[in-house]
Amino acid sequence: MNKQIVTFFDTTLRDGEQTPNVSFTQEQKLIIAKALDKLGVDIVEAGFPIASRGEFNAVKSIADANLKTTVCGLARVLTPDIDACLDADVELVHVFASTSDVQLKHSMKKTRQEAYDLSVDAVEYVKDHGVKCLFSAMDATRTEMEFLLRVCGGVESAGADFINIPDTVGIMAPSRMFKFVKQIREAVKVPIDVHCHNDFGLAVANSLSAVEAGANQVQVTVNGIGERAGNADLAQTAMSLSSIYGIKFNIRTQYLLETSRLVERFTKVSLPATTPIVGENAFSHESGIHSRGVLERPDTFEPGIMTPEMVGQHRRLVAGKHTGRHAVREMLKDAHFDISEDELTRIISRVKEIGDQGRQVTDVDLYTIAEVVTDEVMKPTILLEELSVMTGNRVTPTATVKAVVDGKTKIGARVGIGPVDAAINAVKDILGETDAQLRTFRIDAITGGSDALADVVIGVEDSHGNLVTARAARSDIVIASVEAMISAINRLKAKKGA
Ligand code: MN
Repeated sequence: MNKQIVTFFDTTLRDGEQTPNVSFTQEQKLIIAKALDKLGVDIVEAGFPIASRGEFNAVKSIADANLKTTVCGLARVLTPDIDACLDADVELVHVFASTSDVQLKHSMKKTRQEAYDLSVDAVEYVKDHGVKCLFSAMDATRTEMEFLLRVCGGVESAGADFINIPDTVGIMAPSRMFKFVKQIREAVKVPIDVHCHNDFGLAVANSLSAVEAGANQVQVTVNGIGERAGNADLAQTAMSLSSIYGIKFNIRTQYLLETSRLVERFTKVSLPATTPIVGENAFSHESGIHSRGVLERPDTFEPGIMTPEMVGQHRRLVAGKHTGRHAVREMLKDAHFDISEDELTRIISRVKEIGDQGRQVTDVDLYTIAEVVTDEVMKPTILLEELSVMTGNRVTPTATVKAVVDGKTKIGARVGIGPVDAAINAVKDILGETDAQLRTFRIDAITGGSDALADVVIGVEDSHGNLVTARAARSDIVIASVEAMISAINRLKAKKGA
């Protein structure tokens, strides 16, 4: 058993917020910090207090929130930057200076000696105020080793509590990262952490190599957000360290999915279905051989050393052209259909016809086919009667929905950022307190031109992680969206109620 322990430094709120087109409100930052605290990250980098008044207030509110995690603020090797961190009451100040010649000459505009002196002075200044200090040698991986080791030695003597080796522009390969970190590991005693960027898709791999070489801490972000192609992904780094390397840490992995979804919602940077660990397909199976295998024993076609339960996920079987009998029987049993073997054969042949046309077979498609074949029609909870939407450049998009819910007529009205959003909100309004959440939403134009048929596929999920996908195709995008939403909710309710 590996005795090594790795700590997690999360920079979702700092480097992550430097993702192009992403910025958080002060309130969102605090919500994310609390989620990271619940997840068990050791250090939360809350932001760059000197950057703006709002940023200062956000960092201070997180520092004052009584979290178990250590709250960190970023500063250049300049006194006003460090003072802003100290005024924000952070427990750890992260100071950084460029060390590579290209950045010294063209960005920081200092000589090596000036950068060295500023770095040592900055660390001493932080330590004189009784606060912990993490020093980053920015662009370390493009810095001449001799100079880098001199800087590391200098800041260590000045009292730095951590030395960070950033692969600022993401140019390392795992084997090189191993040798690079090993050389620094042999030269200094303080804990080393690494900050890897994903320009070549190697951020997680390089972080793992650094840990193999003796790094003690990894800098990560939720969903791998960050500058350019982003940073090392928190979930991928954590699960690789525990499941593959057997390394211990303080992350409570069962909260990985909910943390990812929170950040996805606030950043509006949506994850591809194939994203490892937290993606929609990470534990989904379509092929007959795989589905049958996992029904028999999950580790036939899953890692086994990592299960969906470990990360807050659910295993899902999905119908499609590769589907086999076992999976379809299981999916229909799960939705409380009572079907004979002969009916199953007919259902499968229709599912494969849809798949062969290159279309996704949603859960509701499968259930509708089963209804037609078995003559067993579901009684819907919600029946849409009227939908009207007002939109334009001078009005707030507003929608009104009239529907029969459990036999009672209800009317709901809501605004939204656009007509589709307003209509979906109006549907939520008539449902009142429901745990059904819209999870996925995709609109495709089936034909060209402005009269194109809109094909809407949405996924609705309840708080137990039951997800139902449904589709509607209409020339009106708003009506298609509402119909798909209602059809998924009806199915989700039927599945639970039966
Ligand atoms: Mn960075």
